[in-house]
Amino acid sequence: MTPRDNDNRLIDSFGRVHNNLRISVTDRCNIRCVYCMPESVTFLPREHLLTFEEIERFVRVAATLGVDKIRLTGGEPLVRRDLPKLIALLAAVPGIKDVGLTTNGILLAPMAQALWDAGLRRINVSLDTMDPQRFLELTRRTGFEQVIEGILAAKAAGFDPVKVNAVAIKGTTEDDVVPLAAFAREHGLELRFIEYMPLDAGDRWERGKVLFASEILDILTRGIGPLVPAPNQDPRAPAADYDFVDGRGRVGLIASVSRPFCMSCNRVRLTADGKLRNCLFALDETDVRPLLRGDSGDAEIARALRESVAAKWEGHEINTARFIKPERLMHSIGG
Ligand code: SAM
Repeated sequence: MTPRDNDNRLIDSFGRVHNNLRISVTDRCNIRCVYCMPESVTFLPREHLLTFEEIERFVRVAATLGVDKIRLTGGEPLVRRDLPKLIALLAAVPGIKDVGLTTNGILLAPMAQALWDAGLRRINVSLDTMDPQRFLELTRRTGFEQVIEGILAAKAAGFDPVKVNAVAIKGTTEDDVVPLAAFAREHGLELRFIEYMPLDAGDRWERGKVLFASEILDILTRGIGPLVPAPNQDPRAPAADYDFVDGRGRVGLIASVSRPFCMSCNRVRLTADGKLRNCLFALDETDVRPLLRGDSGDAEIARALRESVAAKWEGHEINTARFIKPERLMHSIGG
C-alpha cells in the first residue's frame, strides 16, 4: 500500500478525523503509581507482545489511512529492550511526520541521546512532585533523582520543549503545583497538569478527588503570578495552554474530567498485545494481533482499523451515571 489519499481517512460517525496513534509497547513498569497500577500484577506473557516488525507493519497500514502522528507509551516504554530501534523503524515509515514518547523518566538519562538520534522529537516525562518523599508515596518506588536527571538529559539532547506531565489529585498534589511550575520555569520546560481520571487500580477514584484545571490555575496565580491563554492554540490539542504574564513559562491544563475534549479527539490506541481501542475508556477492543501474525493482508488490517474508528462513541461518560470503568487499567492501555 502507498501513503493515503484523502478518501481513505479514518473518520468516525461524528466526523472526527483520526491521525494520531498511541502505541503501548509494554504493560510492564518500573514504578507503581497509586493512581495507575496495582502493586502486584500479572504481566502479559512476552509472546503476546507485538514484535517491532508487527508494530511497524501496523503503522505502515495506519499511515495509508492518514495516521501521521505516533506516540509510544506503556507501561513504561523505556523498559522495552532496544526501543530506539523501534523509533527508527517508525520514523522511517512513509507518511509518519512525528514520533513522540511518554515516559516516567527513570531510565531516560542514559537513553536520551539515543532516542533523539533514532528520530524521536517529542518527549513527555511524567512527574507529579518535586518532593522526593511524596514521589516515593505516589510511585511506591525510589527514582526521583533519576527522573530529574532524565528531564535535564532530554533537554541537553535537543528535545524542545521537554513536556512534564503531572496528575492532579485533590487532597494530594495541591502543594506540588507551585514547586513543579517553578522547576519548569527555571529549566524552560512545558508543564501540563492532567485531571485525575478513573482508570486506576483499586477503585480509588472519586469525582471529589479530581483537582480541577480551574483550581490549578488559581493555585498558580496565587503562588507565582497571573497567566493568560496562550496564543494560536491547536483546538484539537487536549491541553488548554496558559502563559505566565511575566513571559516565563507555559502551563497546559488537560481537563479530561471538568472539560472533556472528546469531540475533538483524533486518537486511536494500540495496546502492547495488539488490541485496538478507539477511546481510553472504551469497553470494546478489536484484536489485530491475529491479523498481524497470520497471513491476513494489509487490507484486512486497514478494515479492522477503519471499523474500530467508525464505531467510536461520542465521548467518555465520566460525568454521567452511565459511566462504566473499563476493565483494563491505565498501565495496560497506554495513557
Ligand atoms: N510510564 C509512562 C509514564 O509514566 O509516562 C507512560 C504510561 S503512563 C500510563 C502515561 C500517563 O498516564 C502518565 O503521565 C500518567 O501520569 C498518566 N496517568 C496514569 N494514570 C492516570 C490517571 N488515573 N489519571 C490521569 N492520568 C493518569
